[in-house]
Amino acid sequence: MTKFVFVTGGVCSGLGKGITASSIALLLKAKGYKVFMQKFDPYMNVDPGTMSPIQHGEVFVTADGCETDLDLGHYERFIDEELNYTSNITNGKIYSSVIEKERRGDFLGATIQIVPHISNEIKNKIYEAGTTSGADIVITEIGGTVGDIESSVMMESLRQFRLEQGRENTFFVHTTLVPYLYGSNELKTKPTQNSIIELRRLGIQPDIVVTRAPIDLGDAVKKKIALFGSIPPENIIEAKDVTNIYEIPINFHKQNIEEIILAQFGLKVTKSDLAAWQHLLNTVENLNGEVEIALVGKYVELEDAYLSVKEALKAAGYQYKTKVKINWIDSESLEKEGINLKEVFKSSSGILVPGGFGSRGIEGKILACQYARENKIPYLGICLGMQIAVIEFARNVCGLSDASSKEFNEICPNPVIDLMADQKAVINKGGTLRLGNYECRLQKGTLAYKDYGCDTIYERHRHRYEFNNKYRELLESKGMVFSGVNPESGLVEIIELPNHPHFIASQFHPEFKSRPTKAHPLFISFIGASIDYCKHKK
Ligand code: GLN
Repeated sequence: MTKFVFVTGGVCSGLGKGITASSIALLLKAKGYKVFMQKFDPYMNVDPGTMSPIQHGEVFVTADGCETDLDLGHYERFIDEELNYTSNITNGKIYSSVIEKERRGDFLGATIQIVPHISNEIKNKIYEAGTTSGADIVITEIGGTVGDIESSVMMESLRQFRLEQGRENTFFVHTTLVPYLYGSNELKTKPTQNSIIELRRLGIQPDIVVTRAPIDLGDAVKKKIALFGSIPPENIIEAKDVTNIYEIPINFHKQNIEEIILAQFGLKVTKSDLAAWQHLLNTVENLNGEVEIALVGKYVELEDAYLSVKEALKAAGYQYKTKVKINWIDSESLEKEGINLKEVFKSSSGILVPGGFGSRGIEGKILACQYARENKIPYLGICLGMQIAVIEFARNVCGLSDASSKEFNEICPNPVIDLMADQKAVINKGGTLRLGNYECRLQKGTLAYKDYGCDTIYERHRHRYEFNNKYRELLESKGMVFSGVNPESGLVEIIELPNHPHFIASQFHPEFKSRPTKAHPLFISFIGASIDYCKHKK
């Protein structure tokens, strides 16, 4: 029977609730339990797929093709398990599903109400995560802060959930802030007390309180929170600020968080296997080199828009015990007249163009790609970054000076990137991209084949436009190699340039499969090539 852990947040957002949830899941997995994770987002969008990265940061894509909150990226990277459609539930999803059922007549004449219809739907999504994953323990994080109007029905559903399942099958973790006041030099517990009271007003008594604070709480503060919160002092788990997020699970482990949870569930407590995580932590704390990578994007002022790419670069660096420093370059800034690209890329040893949508900044990305190709600087293109590489090559090597993508120019005479027939009829923007895992066959003797070391791979997608195969022969004749192709549709997945030390780009998003303990082959080889480039550049 599945057990359920719920992680709520109090006082304010941004306390690291997602990392707390991931760390708990990681620690329970290290005890030998099968874990699965889920995030509830209390907004009315059905999913974040249609939201601007400025609003929401990156959209993380699961293997089964769901566009989800970026916290799911943290989850997958921490627990190294593939999540799915049951892992990100929004108010929009809940409401639209209930309304669809009402229209179908499923409720047989009943008046549809928030309680029980919406709350039942929410509870069903929690049960569904348990049954479809077959996990021993499901960890569900509730987005937002306790007391928000938006999440109040979700909290009510959790209250009912405990009533149905009992204390032995459910566990509530509440994360709060314990601020430090300079001047009087003391930690203040009142915001935490109030937030526990707020949670209790919703009918939920937390079993553990995780306190974020800049310094150690000390016994007196801990006891005070325990007394007001009606929980034993050992169930106050300190989340002291850290410089490296990978320390957090280890810090929680030292405070026995997983053992407290397992004891309440009546589950066996075995010895933890944290060797891989500990190894990661040691690696990260002992990096001895540095390589600089230029990331040319549209939202570089907002690093969260490229969170998984950033994490994948860092993870690949760990393979070489090297720190990856990202030089964030605004693609539009490269379009300014008289720009000196040599100056811009002076300290970078690799150029990465990540995914993106819309025409803003496109010409700047094409210039960056051309600069990488002509100056033999390692290049990694991801999704839009592959389309950019194709356009640049068609224009500057194949002589098609008006080559472009239909996304940027609908009447483009040479659409080397185009919509496929199945995308032309699409009207709705939400959920209609080519999403999730697709198969890709790799050609022997290519860089892609060497990187992966096998001939069939599955990678995650999130795009609408494709390489236009009408141009394949021309580009091939000029030296571009189509090293990865979908065996069913013939759609191009990977391109590369063999007459360049390292020039490769994929239509899929490799960053979603990278883990800190298991970097992705395309990122490993890109960082390796960048380190080589750095050594040899005078
Ligand atoms: N805008 C491009 C497309 O839709 C690329 C998308 C992406 O980079 N994720 O095909």
